[in-house]
Amino acid sequence: MTRSSLLVDAHGRMMRDLRVSVTDRCNFRCLYCLPETEEAADFYRVKFDALKNPAPPTPITREWKPRSHILSFEEIERVVRLAVGLGVEKVRVTGGEPLLRQHVETLVRGLAQIPGVTDLAMTTNGFLFPQKARALREAGLQRVSFSMDSLDPDNFKKITGRDGLRSVLAGVDLARELGFSPVKVNAVIIRGLNDHEIESLAEFAREKDLSFRFIEFMPLDSGRAWQKELVVPGREMLRRLQARFELKPAKQSNPSETARRWTFADGRGEIGIIAPVSEPFCGHCNRLRLTADGKIRTCLFSLTEHDLKPLLRGGAPDETIEARLREIVRQKEERHHIGEPDFVQPERTMSCIGG
Ligand code: SF4
Repeated sequence: MTRSSLLVDAHGRMMRDLRVSVTDRCNFRCLYCLPETEEAADFYRVKFDALKNPAPPTPITREWKPRSHILSFEEIERVVRLAVGLGVEKVRVTGGEPLLRQHVETLVRGLAQIPGVTDLAMTTNGFLFPQKARALREAGLQRVSFSMDSLDPDNFKKITGRDGLRSVLAGVDLARELGFSPVKVNAVIIRGLNDHEIESLAEFAREKDLSFRFIEFMPLDSGRAWQKELVVPGREMLRRLQARFELKPAKQSNPSETARRWTFADGRGEIGIIAPVSEPFCGHCNRLRLTADGKIRTCLFSLTEHDLKPLLRGGAPDETIEARLREIVRQKEERHHIGEPDFVQPERTMSCIGG
């Protein structure tokens, strides 16, 4: 296959990673995504007052997509198969919360059978994972990433709106037991909310031999309440972790990796820092996103989306969809503009895009 027939953008980046959102719904209300609880409102109110910022702009009005707009498993599998034929290798199933999609393991089985998918992963909040883990493993899921922003049950509830820490911890243990490898855990760190837990989260990674990711807070929340003062820069997180642990830089060969990684000197576990706000990594971005309702997003912060549904449902042949995918990828944004005067937050929240 020639380079021109692959998914290469105008900046020479080749797409290798497709994130597939299978539902826009979620059973959590995370403060950095769908801050709809009283506790979330209180947290932001206090922060806005303390920073003497004007009140947050009007929240994004969220409407769940009607079921008829959501791609069927067959439609998703077709898009993935075509994208893989054009060079995509890694597929990550996301949401919303992907485990809310009924029979998601059937989709996973279909995706696992597509020749050329070398890495099949899922990002989940973990709440339903204990019920689904075995079926997912048997269906061919290779890796799982949990979102877990706190180890303190009260803080966990404050952040997610759900009293769910115990289920998520059970999910993490079960994932290790079933041989998902590596088991990853992601935490979004927000100043004044869970930044005091950075060290204990890292200790947890070491104890459980996990791959733990600390992620900077990004402006993708439905409340549009993100403020740069709430971002804990990656460098600050690293300084704190280095003060507590002896860390060794991990070998990194893939320039498109979003995390800078370290291992603990005593061998177990690994931490990574994902700093899209303070140290953007757009130059090596090889990611595309397919939303649950069939739109391709070429960047987390895209302001335009490209609808594949009319082609998928209008009887278009594979070649037409492939040509459309190439054309869409050529329009991929060079980088995000967070923190710049021209930055506009996309209408889709994290819950609709998936991580
Ligand atoms: S912000 Fe957009 S271009 Fe930058 S790394 Fe994320 S998805 Fe890629």
